[in-house]
Amino acid sequence: GWRSRAAFKLIEIDDRFQVIRPGSRVVDLGAAPGGWSQIAVKRQASAVVGVDLLPVDPVEGAEIIEGDFMDDAMPERLKTMLGGPADLVMSDMAPNTTGHAATDHIRIMGLAENALDFALQILAKDGAFIAKVFQGGSEKHMLDLMKRCFDTVRHVKPPASRKESSELYVVAQGFRGLPTDENP
Ligand code: SAM
Repeated sequence: GWRSRAAFKLIEIDDRFQVIRPGSRVVDLGAAPGGWSQIAVKRQASAVVGVDLLPVDPVEGAEIIEGDFMDDAMPERLKTMLGGPADLVMSDMAPNTTGHAATDHIRIMGLAENALDFALQILAKDGAFIAKVFQGGSEKHMLDLMKRCFDTVRHVKPPASRKESSELYVVAQGFRGLPTDENP
């Protein structure tokens, strides 16, 4: 069985968008307790590296780093572990909630933006990015950046995500590379 209920959300996203392809190199940000990494291995990713602040029991077929994905050394370390740039960076990260809705919202969006910055550093051409965002979708700055860097950007609410929760996922596919000034 899967380690988390969250696993079903990734199954639903991947059934719809085929973000995990056989041979994909996959980064799982906020991996604990390991459900999304299990799915990536099961769906024949060739390399899966998860990162979490919390310890994660070993996931067969994946490597897990206990640490903060925002460490400066993380992008290079992950590229080395994957054997090259990533085909998919997926983030189910959520901060510890404070119970103060506006603060929680700002923190989640901050994590998602940092996950995007991270993804832009390690994605291969045609790669994909998934991140948990909140009701209302990505902030304008983040959305504009994604639209410049990816062929398609969609917001989805997988059926396994509780209706009463305000979480959404952004799914960006077809990474074109970093935007340049000549190509705004
Ligand atoms: N997708 C996972 C699964 O299926 O098992 C569940 C992920 S859980 C909802 C979110 C995780 O994000 C938490 O375990 C939390 O520790 C992690 N997280 C939050 N901020 C982080 C950071 N800066 N670096 C690494 N992990 C972080």
